[in-house]
Amino acid sequence: MSTETIVAQSRQDDVLILTIQNPPVNAFSPGVPEGLKAGLDAAAADDTVRAVVIIGGGRTFVAGADIKTFNLPREQAPDLRGTIEKLDAFPKPTVAAIHGTALGGGLELAMGCTYRVATPDAQLGLPEVKLGVLPGAGGTQRLPRVVGAQKALEMMLSGTPIKATEGKEVGLIDRLIDGDLLSGAVTFAREVADARPLPRISERSVEGASPEVFAAARQGIKKSHWGQLSPELIIDLAEMAATTPFQEGWTAEATKFMQAKDSPQSRALRHVFFAEREAAKIPGLGKDTPTLDIRRAGIIGAGTMGGGIAMNFLNAGIPVTIVETTQEALDRGLGVIRRNYENTAKKGRMSQGDVETRMGLLTPSLDMGSLSDADIIIEAVFENMDVKKDIFTRLDAIAKPGAILATNTSTLDVNEIAAVTSRPESVIGLHFFSPANVMKLLEIVRADKTSDTVLATSMALARKIKKVGVVVGVCDGFVGNRMVHRYGEEARQLVEEGARPEDVDAAMNALGLPMGPFQMSDMAGLDIGHAIRVHRAKVSGEPEPDGWLDRIVKTGRKGQKTGGGIYDYDETRKPRPNADVQALIDTYRTEKGVTPRDISTEELTKRLAYTLVNEGAQILDEGIAARAGDIDVIYLYGYGFPAYRGGPMQYADEMGLNNVVADLERYGQTPAPLLKRLADEGGSFADLDAGRGR
Ligand code: NAD
Repeated sequence: MSTETIVAQSRQDDVLILTIQNPPVNAFSPGVPEGLKAGLDAAAADDTVRAVVIIGGGRTFVAGADIKTFNLPREQAPDLRGTIEKLDAFPKPTVAAIHGTALGGGLELAMGCTYRVATPDAQLGLPEVKLGVLPGAGGTQRLPRVVGAQKALEMMLSGTPIKATEGKEVGLIDRLIDGDLLSGAVTFAREVADARPLPRISERSVEGASPEVFAAARQGIKKSHWGQLSPELIIDLAEMAATTPFQEGWTAEATKFMQAKDSPQSRALRHVFFAEREAAKIPGLGKDTPTLDIRRAGIIGAGTMGGGIAMNFLNAGIPVTIVETTQEALDRGLGVIRRNYENTAKKGRMSQGDVETRMGLLTPSLDMGSLSDADIIIEAVFENMDVKKDIFTRLDAIAKPGAILATNTSTLDVNEIAAVTSRPESVIGLHFFSPANVMKLLEIVRADKTSDTVLATSMALARKIKKVGVVVGVCDGFVGNRMVHRYGEEARQLVEEGARPEDVDAAMNALGLPMGPFQMSDMAGLDIGHAIRVHRAKVSGEPEPDGWLDRIVKTGRKGQKTGGGIYDYDETRKPRPNADVQALIDTYRTEKGVTPRDISTEELTKRLAYTLVNEGAQILDEGIAARAGDIDVIYLYGYGFPAYRGGPMQYADEMGLNNVVADLERYGQTPAPLLKRLADEGGSFADLDAGRGR
């Protein structure tokens, strides 16, 4: 497309209108800056033009920079800064007319103009922090000059946009336009056409810029953005806006933008941005795959998971029938749901009316027959194959034709469950994570015979109930738990060799995970892991497990729920090491003839993180996950892996797969064949994903 078509020039008498036409969202990609500069040149050269209006064609103003251009060399990247410099020096008034969203580079462009008008519902924001970067085209210097230090910091550090109505209150918008935006903007432009001097933002000073404001922001990000670079740089730059001439801050911003952009954290956050979008696409499934309407849901089991799962549907306004075996269990389950909602209401995040509306959508029942009109039925009973098979046999007779029959099993074979029905194409695994009303992840387990429609409907349903759905294949533990299982083994092994549990957890905390493996086990309940190990040993004919952690469980310490497990807990739930546990570990090592050794933090971190990576590679090779990016999304939303590390697979790419393999071998582990092959070829998981059609 020529620059004139990307930015169209038109006249309304004395006003030149530049319309950006770069669908779908008018991103600031190549062609846009050239078109805008050409338009400004035309306006400057023509004495009959008194003012310029810049507006977006289609559904929005400039919604942001084009993230794909981040990787272009500087000379090839679209020249947003140059365009804004030209605007700032422009001798006639320029008016940004905003509808839809003005985000990132879009808002920076608007702040480069002399004035801004907007429709009341337009959204304005600088979300760069979410991608580990910072506003790099004047945003850090102009926003504080418009809205003051405090508000600018708030907007840039949260990345959350504000509505134009608020923008008007804080001075970011000069006029709200209710009717036709363009004619309102042209009227405004004529009103200000002769006003001089031009009220350039770059010539203003920053209000409310006390040292305390910046100190408080620095303190705040220790909590909200622990370990992250770009928020620090944003605060430094906002402070420069307040304390140095515009030009100095403008120059520093360019340098710091490059520093942030070239950081592993930003690479990771950009990877996450794309990985999430990719995860929504199911290989082999066309966009036109039909989906079913989900108007009623049925849930079997009102325990920990069933109750939480029900809440997701109720929140989305979908009626739920929940079935239990006894009235007592049903009452208990409903009681928990109501208490959860009432607690939310007490915190002011929901009205009492909302609580009642949701509870009104919930029908308790002791009869599975009452599920005959449900469009989806999710089973969440005990983790026992015989019980599940019995339920699916009965469901087969009860459920209406075409209804989705889902199991929330964490480990069992979904194919085996599907096989007891006459309609395996309707059977799927929907693996929610605990607490199911909170955790965003939904592993969607595609069994051998699951139909495309059932799969596509489940993906759409995930979105509807505000989950991040990721399709996985059938194996023990699917993706997330299979990896975490190996990780737990490695963590226990490290303690056996000499590490203290708190050192192991601290290593993962330092990587940015809010909980290390032992903090996580204490929260989930140590008895659950123990029961799984006992079960596995039984199945494979091995002796009953008797590791140090099994011994702790046998002393009655089951984790947070019994007031202590590997750690002790007080009411703040802060873990504290326990002397008896340490003594038990010491005794265990002595019995095993292990002389404890000092294990460096580096070894702890690498052995734990690379165990995840190695199992992840095996999972990819087996086709249980379609993309390395999917595994990363699972770890971000299901296990608290920090987004600024991008997930375990991206972390491995960042460390270099050849280094990962060398370290695994050094620590006595066998690298998965796929990992080894990629490392030998000098490849990465990102390359592999790209090759698979990413
Ligand atoms: P739970 O023991 O808290 O709840 C199970 C409920 O099912 C009980 O209330 C029980 O009365 C009911 N039930 C048993 N048989 C039934 C039947 N025939 N009809 C109706 N109700 C019946 O267990 P949970 O932790 O909620 O786990 C449920 C399922 O979810 C299991 O398959 C588990 O593996 C899986 N899961 C659990 C978690 C977790 O962290 N707890 C996470 C993901 C998946």
